[in-house]
Amino acid sequence: MTILDTRNDDTLLVTVPNKLLIAGEWRDSVAGGTFDVHNPATGSVLRTIANADADDGRAALDAAAAAQHGWARTTPHERSAILHRAYDRIITEKEALAYVMTLEMGKPLADARGEVQYAADFFKWFAEEAVRIHGTHALAPDGRGQILTVREPVGPCLLITPWNFPLAMGARKMGPAIAAGCTIVFKPAPQTPLSSLSLARILQKAGLPAGVLNLLTTTRAGEVVEPMLRSGIIRKMSFTGSTQTGRILLEQSASAIVRTSMELGGNAPFIVFEDADLDVAVNAAVAAKMRNMGEACTAANRLYVHESIAEDFTAQLTARFEALTIGDGTAEGVDVGPLIDAPSLAKVQGLVDRAVNAGARIRTGGAPLGGAGYFYPPTVLTDIPDGSDILSTEIFGPVAPIVTFTDEDAVVAEANATEWGLVGYVITQDIDRANRVTAALEVGMVGLNTGVVSNVAAPFGGVKQSGLGREGGHLGIDEFLNHKYIAIPAPKPASSSGA
Ligand code: ADP
Repeated sequence: MTILDTRNDDTLLVTVPNKLLIAGEWRDSVAGGTFDVHNPATGSVLRTIANADADDGRAALDAAAAAQHGWARTTPHERSAILHRAYDRIITEKEALAYVMTLEMGKPLADARGEVQYAADFFKWFAEEAVRIHGTHALAPDGRGQILTVREPVGPCLLITPWNFPLAMGARKMGPAIAAGCTIVFKPAPQTPLSSLSLARILQKAGLPAGVLNLLTTTRAGEVVEPMLRSGIIRKMSFTGSTQTGRILLEQSASAIVRTSMELGGNAPFIVFEDADLDVAVNAAVAAKMRNMGEACTAANRLYVHESIAEDFTAQLTARFEALTIGDGTAEGVDVGPLIDAPSLAKVQGLVDRAVNAGARIRTGGAPLGGAGYFYPPTVLTDIPDGSDILSTEIFGPVAPIVTFTDEDAVVAEANATEWGLVGYVITQDIDRANRVTAALEVGMVGLNTGVVSNVAAPFGGVKQSGLGREGGHLGIDEFLNHKYIAIPAPKPASSSGA
C-alpha cells in the first residue's frame, strides 16, 4: 500500500457559482446565510456558498410553478436539443468538472472523470428519450370504442441527491425531468454542492429557460424541503439517499400525495461459488467494493465465499487491496481517496473495531491513517462472528468482510435475510446455478460475474426497503410522466341515406 502526499490546487473553483439559482438568477439567500464546503482530503475550506432557508425554498417553488405551463408546451425537439448541448459542454469541461468533484468529494481523479462521462451520458440518453414519449392506442375488447393514452409531464419536481456521486445523481434525475417537460427544484447534498452548481451553470448556458431549474444549496434540508412537499405544488419527488431519510420524506409526501422515486440504501451480498473463475471473482470484488472507496449504495457489503476457495480468494483480494495507492484524489495515480467526513470515518472505524473485538481477523488495513483528511485504508476481514453489525449495516467504506459458506440454499437465504434489496453479485461459471441464484435473490439488480451494474441504459433501483421506482433506461423518464387515458366511443354508423 503506497500513500501519496496531498496537494492543493483550487484555482478552478472560482468558476463555480456560489449562489442559489432561482427563476434564472443567481442570488444570495434572502436572509444572507452561507456555509463552507470542505475538502475531505485536507479539511480545508474550498468555497463559501449561499445557505437557503424556507423563504428561499418558497421562492424556488414559486419559480418552478410559474415556469411549468410554458415549459410543458415546448417541443420534444427543443428539450432534446438543450440536453444535447449540455452533454457537449460537460464533455468539453470534463477535466475541470472532474477536478472540482475530486476536491469536494475526495474520489480519485480517474473515478471522477468516469463519473463526469456517466453524468453526461444520462443527458445524452434522455435527450434521445425526449423525442420518444409515446402513448398507446387499443380497440376496446368489446369493440365498442377506442382506448387512447398519452403521457404528460407530472409537474414541478423536487430532486434531492446525496454526496457520493455529486454529478451523476443530479444528471440522472434532471435529465428525465427536463426531457419530460417538468420544472425542477434541485437540492444537492451540502457536502458536495459545487458539482451541482457547475451542472446548473452548464444547463443555463445550454439554453434552459429561466425557472425550469431552481437550485437550492442548504444545510437546513428539513426546514426547506418539508413545506415544499406539503405545498401541493410539488407533484413529484425523486430522492437518492439513506433509507432513514427516505422514510421521513415518504411520510411528508403522503400529505399532498406526491409521487415518489426513492433510491435508498443497500446491503449488497457478493457471492462467490466454488465453480467461480477466481480472477473474475477477485476483479469483480475489487470493483464492487473499492469503487468510490466503498461509498456507494451498490458496494459489495458482505462477501460470501465458498469454503473450498475462501483462502485463495482472501489471499488474492488482500494482495490487490495492498497494492492500491491511497492519497489526495487530485494526485494522479491515487486509487483510494478519503472518506467524506469525520462521522463517516468514525462509523467505519466503529464497525471494524466492534467486529475485531468480537473475534474477527484483520488481513489488511483495519485502522484509520490519522493526520489531515479522513483516510481509511482498504481493509479485509475474515472470521466474522455471527451477528456482527458489520454484516447488517451499510458500511459505506473500503472494508470487505468475508464470510465462508458451503451450501447454496443457505447462502441465498442469508443473502436475503435483510430489509434491503438493491443489488446482489453472483460469481459462478455454472449456468444453472446462475439462473437459480439470480432468480432467488430479492434485489432489484444483479451483477453476474461482474462487479459493476450501473449503466445509463439500464433500470437502476431496488426492492424492499432499498426503494421505489427506477432511474435510467426506458423506465427512467416514465417516473416524470402521467399517463392520461382518453376514451373514444365507437363511431356512429353511417346514415343509410348517405350517397
Ligand atoms: P447521508 O447520511 O449519506 O448524507 P442522507 O439521506 O442524510 O444521506 O442525505 C441524502 C440527501 O438528503 C442530502 O441531500 C441531504 O441533505 C438530504 N436530507 C437529509 N435529511 C433531510 C430531510 N429531513 N429532509 C430533506 N432532505 C434531507
